[in-house]
Amino acid sequence: MNDTAPNPYHDLPSVDRVLADPRVAALAVERGHAPVASIAREVLETYRASIAVSPIDSPAVIEAVLARAEALRPSLRRVVNATGVIIHTNLGRAPLSLAALDAVERVSAGYSNLEFDLDAGERGTRFAHLDRVLCLLSGAEAGIAVNNNASALLLALAALCRDREVIISRGQLVEIGGGFRIPDVLRQSGATLVEVGTTNRTYVRDYAEAITERTAAILRVHSSNFRVVGFTEQAPLTALASLARERGLLLLDDLGSGALLDTRAYGLAHEPMVQESVRAGADIVLFSGDKLLGGPQAGIAVGRTEAIEAMRRHPLARAVRIDKASIAALSATLDHYAKGEAEREVPVWRMIALTADTIEGRARGWADACSGHASVEACESTVGGGSLPGESLPSFACAVDAPSGAEAFAAALRAASPPIVARIHEGRVWLDPRTVDAIEDAHVKATLVRLLAEATEANRGR
Ligand SMILES: *Cc1c(COP(=O)(O)O)cnc(C)c1O
Repeated sequence: MNDTAPNPYHDLPSVDRVLADPRVAALAVERGHAPVASIAREVLETYRASIAVSPIDSPAVIEAVLARAEALRPSLRRVVNATGVIIHTNLGRAPLSLAALDAVERVSAGYSNLEFDLDAGERGTRFAHLDRVLCLLSGAEAGIAVNNNASALLLALAALCRDREVIISRGQLVEIGGGFRIPDVLRQSGATLVEVGTTNRTYVRDYAEAITERTAAILRVHSSNFRVVGFTEQAPLTALASLARERGLLLLDDLGSGALLDTRAYGLAHEPMVQESVRAGADIVLFSGDKLLGGPQAGIAVGRTEAIEAMRRHPLARAVRIDKASIAALSATLDHYAKGEAEREVPVWRMIALTADTIEGRARGWADACSGHASVEACESTVGGGSLPGESLPSFACAVDAPSGAEAFAAALRAASPPIVARIHEGRVWLDPRTVDAIEDAHVKATLVRLLAEATEANRGR
């Protein structure tokens, strides 16, 4: 042993010393002593193993412990959506109503009659909770809700069209986002896709000519996120319904966003409504729970009793079933429509219904807080969520001229707590109050004031 050689562990702190660091101690109060001590031990162990390579000092260990604890923190959190895109898929689509949140809490905090018939005192079915209200609102004979609309489509095709052919227009072979394509779902179901027509024009006779003894259904898919303009033609649903009935086929209609209210009342183009598809004679109508319906993530199918029954009985129904929290939120959301109060209570519709005047007033309040660094500008909010492509609602934004530059300022807004997500347009940061809950106004204003002061200070120091 050479006693004069420097001890390589000299600079490595003990676990106790790491835990005594004020920042680590604060973390231990928040996250629990045992988990933080265990992280400290792990980090020290890693350093001990690599210490022969380079000396490590206390501050490096402390930083490593803090970084590791940060990485373990739950990452899903609330953000403020100042983009003006109402149904923003990246930001969690539809916010829930207060009644829906309340229902989730009541049902999830304890036990529930999820699959229990309280009258008979025996096993019931989770489908019972939504069937009646879905029928009431859509005019259909029966309804079922599953995990999301993609799974509703998969289940419908697997239960009703497996090993048979499904006819679809080439203009409706859409990608619905996230790299998710309708033809791929169709194939997964075990059904065979038969494409008819062309990208821009498909006639009823194209469908009629494609029918064989192997045909099970005609599928119409709402081209939710794009619009084909100019020389176009898609067969009307009523004509497809007649054809399907004549030839003994099923007509499935994937509406995507599935509005229950008429978007025309808000100065928008007409988004196809669930009730209209049922009335037109579709055997199954499919739509999402968290797009224009304004509820939780879910996929809903309404239609003829036998067809819905076949979906309920199919083994895939278990794999894509909806959970109790979503049933609770969905029934509370549907109840708003049943009571005729959806525009007032469902956040998505409340935001659609907001007038430009109201929004301008709020944008003015935000801009005033920016003391000369922002102005109120006319802009356009969009519905998003793959509905009403190319359509927008007139709105106003607080447009910020950030001394730090638009990119840096938008990043600083995202680093706020809760984070604020805004849009960059023509070198400025735009915040549209339409999609921001009024209770978040104070946070937006305070964050703008703080960040502008910081940015101005940093500029002066430069
Ligand atoms: C959005 C959409 C889907 C998928 O719905 P999810 O609820 O996101 O699974 C399917 N079809 C169409 C036409 C859509 O617009």
